[in-house]
Amino acid sequence: MGEELHFLLIPLMSPGHLLPMVDMARLLATHGVTVSIITTPLNALRFTSIIDRAVASGLLIQVHHLPFPTKEFGLPENCENMDQLPSRDLIMNFLMAANELQQRFEELFNKLKPKPSCIVSGKNLPWTVKTANKFNVPRIVFDGMGCFSFICSYKLELSKVHEMVSEFESFKIPGLLHEIELKKAQLPENLNPVSNDLINIRDIRKAELVCDGIVVNTFEELEKEYVKEFKSIKGSDKVWCIGPVSAINKLNSDKAERGQKRCNFETLQPWLDLKEPGSVIYACLGSISGLTKWQLIELGLGLESSGKPFIWVIRENPKSNEIEKWILEEKFEDRVKHRGIIIHGWAPQLWVLSHPAIGAFLTHCGWNSTMEAVSAGVPVITCPLFAEQFINEKLVVDVLGIGVSAGVESAVTWGLEDKFGLLMKRERVKNAIDEVMEKSGAGEERRRKAKQIGETANKAIEKGGSSYQEMEMLIQFVLQRTKEVAQTSS
Ligand code: UDP
Repeated sequence: MGEELHFLLIPLMSPGHLLPMVDMARLLATHGVTVSIITTPLNALRFTSIIDRAVASGLLIQVHHLPFPTKEFGLPENCENMDQLPSRDLIMNFLMAANELQQRFEELFNKLKPKPSCIVSGKNLPWTVKTANKFNVPRIVFDGMGCFSFICSYKLELSKVHEMVSEFESFKIPGLLHEIELKKAQLPENLNPVSNDLINIRDIRKAELVCDGIVVNTFEELEKEYVKEFKSIKGSDKVWCIGPVSAINKLNSDKAERGQKRCNFETLQPWLDLKEPGSVIYACLGSISGLTKWQLIELGLGLESSGKPFIWVIRENPKSNEIEKWILEEKFEDRVKHRGIIIHGWAPQLWVLSHPAIGAFLTHCGWNSTMEAVSAGVPVITCPLFAEQFINEKLVVDVLGIGVSAGVESAVTWGLEDKFGLLMKRERVKNAIDEVMEKSGAGEERRRKAKQIGETANKAIEKGGSSYQEMEMLIQFVLQRTKEVAQTSS
């Protein structure tokens, strides 16, 4: 179906958007359409080997580069991805530089073959609205979140219950099928603003509402009632749940090279191979958080006191010098030598999660990590940081029953982690690990549920699965639009 169709994918340049959209490109191509990924040169380098393999296997995927104007917008050299931003002050500069991609994108659009049929745009690239209008093609937004979090936020925006409580008072989200309690201090920034510096981003979000459809990285069976409600709000013919997109990565090489070329794989593989099945905690808080030394120390000490084998990923950023210094001074790596391993930088997360030695994933509940845990069929220990992550925590702990909360009470503000406190406590981290790793009882039940959901997740993208069918419907939608445009212009 759809041999003549050509989907242009332009992801927002942050790992949480780039990686799933590269997965989506390969998924789409397996349905027989041509796909182009359009991004900047250094972002393209992050997935070259994976796309080369996909092309060699016969998939019709092209990659096109647009230069990124770092210098013109006061960004550090080579800062082409949001995980390279040294401080929050530069977020707006980064988004303004991303706006400058429009002209080159439009020049490229006319040269592409076959003629592009639609644009799939990452969030925060509002200029793609104008470009899609200009070329009279549908514009579909890739939504980086799940349906449950959308519905929770939507109910809060309508009811405003969170505006009637103090920061640490619990309240129930009204009108939900499940009983979900949150605290105001845990809400995403748009519902509980702590700083006005990113007010323009909120305006960008409003522009994002103008789209012909939304692609969601989820699958129907995961959050059935919430998918249904999301579709009834947005229009059932305008939402396609096509995930978990990361499940397209079947080869070990694709899993190991997702996001960075073979990073830390050689250290991890022999280490993990020697561990008992289901015994290791994998702890990684995503790609963009910049927690302070004190917050990270609590996590490190929690992992140490659990007595379980662990992998702790500490991402490199301007603040990480301090935690690295603490690790050296405290001889932390020696202290946990035979049991713990620290990854300084990037971990091959998908590959790690698929290793039989992994018993649980301590995650910040970023949506991709959440979906990756679900697909890997491993239970989670939740340690949310910001954005909609506390809502995702509720999904995995209270709705799906595959997680234990580490009891974080308050969100940090991205880029201002030292100003607004995250209440991470080592004892709570340890207790949550103990609970998840419990051999029988609730621990066993959680593992059973996680495994079952994992199996459903992987089936969803296979032929006949729910997400497979939704992908076909998306392609039909674009095909129909293309025909209509051809008819009106002839
Ligand atoms: N990731 C990874 N290795 C790392 C850190 C992150 O592969 O060391 C990947 C992870 O698998 C996920 C993405 O980066 O696909 C992070 O997205 P998520 O939505 O979980 O969190 P964010 O980084 O956007 O907060």
